[in-house]
Amino acid sequence: MTEPADAAERRGRPAVVCYPVETLPQPDMAMLGRARETLRKVSETIVPPRDARTFEAPAGHFFRIVSIEGPQVGDLNLWNARDLSERFFSGKTRALHATHVTTGNRLWSTLPNLRPLATITHDTLGWYGFDADGGGVHDVIGTRCDPYTHRLLSGGDYHHCCHSNLTRALAAARNMDVRDAEMHVHDVLNVFMCTGFTKQTHQYFMKASPVRPGDFIEFFAEIDLLGALSACPGGDCGAEHSSDVAKCYPLKVEIFAPAEGALAGWRSPQRSAYPRTHGAS
Ligand SMILES: [Zn+2]
Repeated sequence: MTEPADAAERRGRPAVVCYPVETLPQPDMAMLGRARETLRKVSETIVPPRDARTFEAPAGHFFRIVSIEGPQVGDLNLWNARDLSERFFSGKTRALHATHVTTGNRLWSTLPNLRPLATITHDTLGWYGFDADGGGVHDVIGTRCDPYTHRLLSGGDYHHCCHSNLTRALAAARNMDVRDAEMHVHDVLNVFMCTGFTKQTHQYFMKASPVRPGDFIEFFAEIDLLGALSACPGGDCGAEHSSDVAKCYPLKVEIFAPAEGALAGWRSPQRSAYPRTHGAS
């Protein structure tokens, strides 16, 4: 294909950040930092390898996803605990923040709600940044491993992909049929996963996670949350997923309550006030 004569000029136009973060409502990280100092653990859940578990994080609580035993990637879904139609919106979170999220970023909910579900308050892998391959940790670019893509690319049925694990966990938690629960499972936050796009072909890649036992990512629950976490069958996702080949480890979810009065001035965010008329007469 021949390039037009002004190809260089067209390519040379400045890149403009799509969403100016200057007007994005900011979390009060100083207040959250002080509240973190007062945390008391109220419960914990162990997520077995190649499986998922749900957890509840009430508004104003904190939750941590903790690496235990060995390097392991987790696939996280979040819902409004009172209304499963409001769930984590991976695509808008990526557009508002970046391909990978860390302390100070928020996990936003789907339209027509568009409010922060959770704010990241601590990330022991915050030092990683972006490596020489362009890889970073905790991405919102991947979707989740699932048996449909596996069947498409490799044939055969594998039942312990994150999509299926999350589906079974939600079905068990809410006493739903798996086919109904599946419709609520959505694009994830890839916790601890190290990913990026290849420089030449811009294909999604993964590499072995830098996470080690003791590492954790911590969130502040902005509304009452139902979460589900899958310990991905890819383990550290350094080689392959959607199989029983990789070495897999459990993950731990811990729920913490801050001391009374520690959240002074904080209010749970409201759904977007957009009237939903869309210009229709
Ligand atoms: Zn997975």
